[in-house]
Amino acid sequence: MIRIAIQAKGRLNEESTTLLRETGIVIDESKRKFLSQALNFPIELLYMRDDDIPQVVSNGTASLGIVGLNEVEERGLPVQIESRLGFGGCRISLAIPKSETYEGPAWFEGKRIATSYPNILRRYLQEKGIRADIEIITGSVEIAPAAGIADAIFDIVSSGGTLVSNGLKEVERVFESEAVLISNGKLDPEQRKLLDEILFRIDSVKISRDKKYLLMNLPKASLEAALQILPAMRSPTVMPLADEGWCSLHSVVSTADLWEKVQQLKAIGAEGILVLNVDKLIP
Ligand code: ATP
Ligand code: MG
Repeated sequence: MIRIAIQAKGRLNEESTTLLRETGIVIDESKRKFLSQALNFPIELLYMRDDDIPQVVSNGTASLGIVGLNEVEERGLPVQIESRLGFGGCRISLAIPKSETYEGPAWFEGKRIATSYPNILRRYLQEKGIRADIEIITGSVEIAPAAGIADAIFDIVSSGGTLVSNGLKEVERVFESEAVLISNGKLDPEQRKLLDEILFRIDSVKISRDKKYLLMNLPKASLEAALQILPAMRSPTVMPLADEGWCSLHSVVSTADLWEKVQQLKAIGAEGILVLNVDKLIP
């Protein structure tokens, strides 16, 4: 049995449970308690506030955790990053009132900066040789300058909309974050095996999310051109059709390239192009 701590509610909760579900781990959400056992895998889910996840993993209460890299960095506890999960992306940035002229980090000398991430901020200021006062606030950091609590803030930014609506501008991007799977390095051999299995499944899910499966009918004369357009994992699958001059071509493409490839394939005569989601891709 292995225990994993995930966020009970908040920005990472849904994507954490979705990821586990996609790795085939079934949790009965209707019977969810603070500690729930999966129905078909020897794993227990411990639901916590994200702030506490690095701690419960480092002290062994849970062997694994899913949490933002920002929390891991801030807590500074001995945990290992096992996988970057590709969701919960954000950054921690310094922001100042938009009317201020900004020419570099020296602006912060002698200023008061409000933040919920004092450790990451302290390290940054030390690195830049800047002395500033850190005001620790746990919520609504973005109102601190208007409220007269601080001159600037150091806070999480994703789109930047919150900063703009509070009359602030982002001037330094200090730390890039995303959700990560962490462990405490104190796994017994059975738990290590379970973690390896989970990591293997997470990798397949991550790869498949980025892929689409393409099927199309293609004039045989265009086959060479299609093979140039579709450098598939090994090579695309080509199947004969009743009509001698045509074939059916199957391939996997990355989601980012999908529309460009579709246009190129249409241009060489592909018809009936079918695009399917890839459920899992085992490399
Ligand atoms: P909890 O009640 O668990 O302590 P919280 O309020 O501290 O929740 P959330 O706002 O749910 O935390 O954010 C959880 C994590 O989501 C953050 O630590 C960060 O890694 C990530 N995240 C991604 N985008 C954003 C964003 N725009 N604002 C805040 N966090 C974000
Ligand atoms: Mg929190």
